[in-house]
Amino acid sequence: MIDVDADTCVLCGLCTGVCPPNALDLTPTRLEVLPHCSECGYCIPYCPVGAISGGRARGRRG
Ligand code: SF4
Ligand code: SF4
Repeated sequence: MIDVDADTCVLCGLCTGVCPPNALDLTPTRLEVLPHCSECGYCIPYCPVGAISGGRARGRRG
């Protein structure tokens, strides 16, 4: 599972632009991972604060 640490996420929205299937939805209060996320892990290195973890790629598991 892709996991976004809500305490770490600064809601910058950078990750929403790099997700191939557009599975990241930025709301005014939180970043949501939508059900059609393929868990490709592509978004993980784009987060400037390391708030995203999990998926098939190597990432910090929270
Ligand atoms: S793991 Fe892949 S599909 Fe899921 S939110 Fe990140 S970039 Fe999008
Ligand atoms: S790139 Fe990181 S900090 Fe920015 S909205 Fe996405 S998860 Fe949050």
